[in-house]
Amino acid sequence: MALQHLIYVSTARKELSNAELETLLESCVRYNLQNDISGVLLYGPGCFIQVLEGEAAAVGETYQRILDDPRHHNLIEIIREDIEQRSFANWRMGFTRLDAAAIRNHPGFTDIYGPDFQPKRLAGQPALAMNMLLTFRENCR
Ligand code: FAD
Repeated sequence: MALQHLIYVSTARKELSNAELETLLESCVRYNLQNDISGVLLYGPGCFIQVLEGEAAAVGETYQRILDDPRHHNLIEIIREDIEQRSFANWRMGFTRLDAAAIRNHPGFTDIYGPDFQPKRLAGQPALAMNMLLTFRENCR
């Protein structure tokens, strides 16, 4: 079975507290360990950007559960494709809450986030989305 990655962007239904994000992440890590999914989740003002990596079937099943999750909506699949190897193998779900300082300090984030950021701006821009996620890998370990 092919290894795939899937990147999507979504809009949070409401601002999530740190406690709510912790609960969410605990469930991500638990499920992702079971399903051999790796990846990164960025939570910026009002939106999520996530990459899921794993066997194609596991990525598809995980994404279906994420699609049905009422904590967010307006999911836009940016890319789903076969990959040779994982880019985030060490993370069962790396996470960063992007505050104003993180966005200001890292060009990979600044390129896309701004005061008028709209998640749909990432649609059709897989390279830009991947760049943001790689910025996490380089700076937010
Ligand atoms: P259950 O835990 O049985 O929950 C039932 C329903 O309630 C589901 O629709 C669930 O989404 C929803 N739900 C659960 N907790 C809450 C809550 N606190 N508030 C509101 N609704 C709730 N799952 C993964 O396995 N891997 C991931 O990488 C992953 N990333 C995610 C990223 C984002 C941005 C979001 C919002 C969710 C993510 N999830 C991820 C969680 C996923 O959506 C499911 O909640 C989880 O996989 C459990 O699925 P379940 O069918 O067992 O639901």
